Amino acid sequence: MDLTTLERLPLWIGGKPTPSRTTRYGEVTNPATGEFLRHVPFAIAEDVDAAVAVATEAWAPWRNAPSLRRARVLMRFRELMEAHKKDLARLLSEEHGKTRVDAEGSITRGIEVVEFATGIPHLLKGEFSDNVGSDVDSFSLRQPVGVCAGITPFNFPAMVPMWMFPIALACGNTFILKPSERDPTLSLRMAELLKEAGLPDGVFNVVHGDKESVDAILKHPGIRAVSFVGSTPIAKYIYETGTAHGKRVQALGGAKNHAVVLPDANLAFAAEALIGAAYGSAGERCMAVSVVVAVGEAGDPLRDLLAERARRIAVGPGDRPESEMGPVITCAARDRIVGLIDRGVAEGAALIVDGRKPGIAGHENGFFLGPTLFDRTTPEMAIYREEIFGPVLVIVRSESLDEAIALINANRYANGAALFTRSGYAARRFQQHVEVGMVGINVPIPVPMAFYSFGGWRNSLFGDLHVHGMDGVRFYTRGKAVTTRWPDDGSAAPGFHLPTLG
Ligand code: NAD
Repeated sequence: MDLTTLERLPLWIGGKPTPSRTTRYGEVTNPATGEFLRHVPFAIAEDVDAAVAVATEAWAPWRNAPSLRRARVLMRFRELMEAHKKDLARLLSEEHGKTRVDAEGSITRGIEVVEFATGIPHLLKGEFSDNVGSDVDSFSLRQPVGVCAGITPFNFPAMVPMWMFPIALACGNTFILKPSERDPTLSLRMAELLKEAGLPDGVFNVVHGDKESVDAILKHPGIRAVSFVGSTPIAKYIYETGTAHGKRVQALGGAKNHAVVLPDANLAFAAEALIGAAYGSAGERCMAVSVVVAVGEAGDPLRDLLAERARRIAVGPGDRPESEMGPVITCAARDRIVGLIDRGVAEGAALIVDGRKPGIAGHENGFFLGPTLFDRTTPEMAIYREEIFGPVLVIVRSESLDEAIALINANRYANGAALFTRSGYAARRFQQHVEVGMVGINVPIPVPMAFYSFGGWRNSLFGDLHVHGMDGVRFYTRGKAVTTRWPDDGSAAPGFHLPTLG
């Protein structure tokens, strides 16, 4: 089906496009032009009920299928995602605004999770001990939890859902995805490709919507596990509400990622790396670097290098090959970011590069901002405290590595942090003492590969387990330990006492 020609998107329930029973719809717009693209339904509780009903029915046969058969469906899905990558990236860029190259890159990072999940027969292997007691053996296994749900943000409409559903499905669960209402169409394309790959109907479903559909998911007794990625206040709400309703929940929240630059670093290399990390995808990445902590005499030269490069960033629509940075997601997001830049100026930070009026010819109605750079930022200022989630980088000056580490450890967010240095001693000290979930040494965006797990600490994660990698397998399975004895018919039965080594 050519989804892009539809004026109103369907849900995807039971392996087919399904109209919602709602009367409420949201508008999906092209952020580069401000033009209306299509309507997205805001599903109601009855829609969620319908998705849970088919996902529950589909669970037993899917759970009981050999894990290798499930893996093979994902292998075919991987091939289809590769074959359609360009079209998917075009659609992603149109709804999100990021450049096509960046969109393709994010799809590739999602495909890597599918590749990890195809190893599920190996990943689900348990432990075995023979003779834990006389003629008694023990083994452990991991079994799927049931119907799982994923609630995802606008900034990675393909990759973040793919952090979740490939592993959930590989483990033998069924899945309901509630994608962001800002860029919802990719999720339907992935549903079509999963079906084409041979996924049985009902195993993967898509329910669009806002708070109403999310609340129906969180309270639904038929849903056993919820994965969430989004902003911190909503992550906290999802965790508290989901767990109060008896579900296991992993809820990843917002971020304020710091990069510390020591005076001994190669400053030109660091500046180039930081430019991409701060302004790529218009700063709308949960791993974007939004704070540079310049230590000692690194400060002035680093600021000049960053300013010079930031002024040259090519801002434009994502479908223009020379664009390095596209628009932000909505008009409201642009206004909020401009408001924070205004506050930075009012609170006394030094505005080095001002991106408030980028002036993109031919795209006057698009939601564009240019790169903005502040120096002399202090921890009390709103531009330091708030997650801006836009193309704004702030420089904080610091006297030492330990002072920089203390600053990061005092921040309420704790997703990623990076250090630029040539000193192995400093690098080791940083990686040992910085209190965040993901650390980069001369790597500005240390996003772990699919076979490691992704997640933050403090207000960047509510729950215990990170996403993908082995944490993903643990989240989407329950452990079981089995103890067996096969006595001869003539053996004595166990007594009333607790069994001990005999
Ligand atoms: P968001 O929190 O507004 O929305 C995320 C999801 O929650 C969407 O599906 C949305 O429909 C739903 N939602 C929104 N308001 C809700 C409410 N009141 N009740 C229930 N559900 C609600 O986030 P966003 O603006 O789409 O995405 C940007 C945020 O996501 C940033 O804070 C960013 O740091 C974060 N993010 C974090 C990670 C990570 O790995 N930690 C990754 C990507 C994005």
